[in-house]
Amino acid sequence: MKDQYQLVIIGAGPAGLAAATVAADHGVEVALLDEQPAPGGQVFRAIEAAPVERAEKLGPEYRRGEKLVTTFRNSSARYFPDTQVWSLSAQREIGVIHQQQARMISAEQVLIANGAFERPVPFPGWTLPGVMNAGAGQILFKGSGIVPSDGVVLAGSGPLLLLLAWQYLRAGVKVKAVLDTISRVNYIKALPKLPSALLVHHHITQGLRYQQTLKLAGVELHNGIRDLQAHGKESLESISYRHKGSRHRLRTDSLMIHFGITPNIHLSQAAGCEHFWHKRQQCWRPELDKWGGSSIEGILIAGDGGGIGGARTAEHAGRISAFKVLHNLGILNQRECKLEAAQDRKWMKADLRIRPFLEKLFRIPDSMLRVPHDNAIVCRCEEVTAGEIRSAIAAGHTDSNQVKFYTRCGMGPCQGRQCSQAVAHIVADKTSVPLQQSTQFRVRPPLKPLTLEQLASLYPDETE
Ligand SMILES: Cc1cc2nc3c(=O)[nH]c(=O)nc-3n(C[C@H](O)[C@H](O)[C@H](O)COP(=O)(O)OP(=O)(O)OC[C@H]3O[C@@H](n4cnc5c(N)ncnc54)[C@H](O)[C@@H]3O)c2cc1C
Repeated sequence: MKDQYQLVIIGAGPAGLAAATVAADHGVEVALLDEQPAPGGQVFRAIEAAPVERAEKLGPEYRRGEKLVTTFRNSSARYFPDTQVWSLSAQREIGVIHQQQARMISAEQVLIANGAFERPVPFPGWTLPGVMNAGAGQILFKGSGIVPSDGVVLAGSGPLLLLLAWQYLRAGVKVKAVLDTISRVNYIKALPKLPSALLVHHHITQGLRYQQTLKLAGVELHNGIRDLQAHGKESLESISYRHKGSRHRLRTDSLMIHFGITPNIHLSQAAGCEHFWHKRQQCWRPELDKWGGSSIEGILIAGDGGGIGGARTAEHAGRISAFKVLHNLGILNQRECKLEAAQDRKWMKADLRIRPFLEKLFRIPDSMLRVPHDNAIVCRCEEVTAGEIRSAIAAGHTDSNQVKFYTRCGMGPCQGRQCSQAVAHIVADKTSVPLQQSTQFRVRPPLKPLTLEQLASLYPDETE
């Protein structure tokens, strides 16, 4: 790894892979960094290593990644797997851990393509062994072929829930139930968005196909569930939820939860980019222009890290940002840049037609986001409960950072990735300050755990 590159891309998912290929094909010196051992990102994880049989069970969308990864491998872009980015400054200095060593590199242009993570929605019992994010379940399946035992329950909301249940069925797992928070109100609010969504009907037909297969396999499917709770002494023994006015209980030792995904904004926050609360997607997103340019010159953001758009949109956005980088580096003039990006822009616009429908349909109930149960652990790292956060607010600590200092929530190894949104919702609820006006946790490096030895290796002359 060199100390300087023309372009550094963080994240080897569809956005980063597409961008790196375009930039390298135009002669740019590109370094693509990713903490995973192989390219593909979340959606095409382990695509090169997955045996054909497993790839087929994961479905045709998964196999689409083969071409993207092969084209990237054939480009001249330098690829650094197992490389974590732990800091990014507005001056485009990038702190990385590469081959166990911390080092700083820099770039004329930086493209953040670090994707999304699953929205954490705390509820009583969600920290019990046996309760897992659906995304984590899918990572185990894609990466190692590991699936849960029969009787698994999936709960929450979002397309990934149905997809994973369908993938488990294909892998021969008996799925006990899929419990969704989608209510009748969601359907009514989503209906006006349906005509536009039908223009990209393959997403909808796919979803209906998953549902049909699950029904035929005898999986219990319930919509409009509320107040999900997980129970057990040492580990998960059962779950309970409210449905149509009464409380139900199911015995299971394995619960996969999913409440949609949210942009991974830790790096863009650390760099100091502007962000705003996106009401429809229920998350903070960076302010971006139509090329993915952030509020800081030379830092661009593409893919789900800039706002949730899905894998195909991420690919187009990556290419569009790469054309802008080529312009910024003086390789393409403005006219050429616009022309090159035109096709991706057209496809991306078409692909995004489904989003307003999905956002209305899979909207998470605000009542769940506010974490109503005082005994629910919000900060898993420091074990801070919703009740403790509410007490801190009642004692006068009325913004997220004050709550953080007072309770230590957000100060553990995940640096607030898991609890920052829930804290913000609780603060907004208790103080009546709308989320869009509220402060978020201040993000400071290191964003990933760094050992003292690794930190000291940055200053070899001073550690004699
Ligand atoms: C758990 C999970 C599972 C998903 N499964 C599916 C699916 O099966 N089908 C589907 O259509 N969509 C799925 N999605 C949505 C899907 O991820 C996106 O739409 C698509 O992958 C976005 O592409 P991207 O390039 O923006 O980011 P990603 O594909 O998420 O790629 C981002 C990459 O950045 C890397 N990265 C992040 N932070 C750092 C850092 N600090 N240092 C180094 N590397 C870093 C990550 O390792 C990752 O490889 C999933 C999302 C999640 C969160």
